[in-house]
Amino acid sequence: MKQNEWTKDGALKQKLISTRRTIHQHPSLSCHEEPTAAFIAKRLEELEIPCEVLLDGCSVVGTLQGKGDGPVVGLRADIDALPIQEETGLEFASQNPGVMHACGHDAHTTILLGAAEVLSGMRNELNGTVKFFFQPAEESIGGAQRMIEAGCLENPHVDYVLGLHINPAFEVGQVGLRRGKMYAASDMFDIVIRGKGAHGAHPDEGLDTIVVAANIVNALQSVISRRVSPFESTIVTIGKIQGGTVRNQIADRTELNGIIRTLDLKQRAFVTGRVREIAESVGKGLDASVEVNMIPSYGPTINDDAVFDVVADVAQRVVGEENVFYEDRPELGTEDFAYFTLERPSCFFHLGCRTPGTEKQVDLHNSRFTIDEDCLMVGVALQVENTLALLRHKKGE
Ligand SMILES: [Zn+2]
Ligand SMILES: [Zn+2]
Repeated sequence: MKQNEWTKDGALKQKLISTRRTIHQHPSLSCHEEPTAAFIAKRLEELEIPCEVLLDGCSVVGTLQGKGDGPVVGLRADIDALPIQEETGLEFASQNPGVMHACGHDAHTTILLGAAEVLSGMRNELNGTVKFFFQPAEESIGGAQRMIEAGCLENPHVDYVLGLHINPAFEVGQVGLRRGKMYAASDMFDIVIRGKGAHGAHPDEGLDTIVVAANIVNALQSVISRRVSPFESTIVTIGKIQGGTVRNQIADRTELNGIIRTLDLKQRAFVTGRVREIAESVGKGLDASVEVNMIPSYGPTINDDAVFDVVADVAQRVVGEENVFYEDRPELGTEDFAYFTLERPSCFFHLGCRTPGTEKQVDLHNSRFTIDEDCLMVGVALQVENTLALLRHKKGE
């Protein structure tokens, strides 16, 4: 990693490690982040960064006003943990039974606090303002959209937003970047088919909802295979079918539950619309009553080209060209950061957290997941340099 005055600061590195261990030891579940938020707010106050606590005490927004009237850059970290019993055996393992930072949000929170500390030390030279978004509930109901609704992108108006996720597929000192579409939008759907029960030997007296369900399942697969370009990535999965009680009776009710994943808003509207229309029209053609309930989840995460170019340039400078990996495919998983990318030019990237030279380590959401803490300083260096680079842009450029 490229060194400068503050990355060589051994005290900062030690502070990052101890901050991360404190957060790791005291994880908060989604929607119960009050203790973590209180810890963050106290740290920001120590740094003399004014902050506001939002979403019933679960979220913190800090605002660091620089000297110039340049752009406003938002940096986001998710702060919640998972309902997992930790099995790492670490001396600083979780002290909350059944709750663990198994997705690295302890590292994200620490990196953002570290960036806040470094940037607050430069406040007299900053050509603009930096906002620090500590976001709850990434692992459950989502917090980004609720923070945006609570006004975090205004007063002052935010021009750009940056976020990162640690990724054990990469070694410490490596960065994964993806231009454009990065994570999918997710929608859930329930299809309830109502027909008429009868003895299995007298199907003509009933209306068989299992046969209707089979037709709907088949027809839905044609949305992807025949109506979406083979160059686009889209998924319609039905993961659960429930209907009937015994083998010799016509099922009067069958329910299908599934998910849809798409990579942009246009595709999302098209595929969710087609799933609804096909289910309803197949049902109609077979005389059954069909009710479709579409439950929207996270939006698509799409990196802005101009912000991506800044982040890519900084990454090459900070970790070296050979350590920047351009991911050629988007992921059909989801990320709550999506809502920032839909509102402002934004960029999300992956930060390596695996000890160099080791085999692929335990993955995220595993009870034995841990990180190489050297990634913390790399994360701080990248977010500080990204912020400084974006602050040199003119507003809205
Ligand atoms: Zn996660
Ligand atoms: Zn995560």
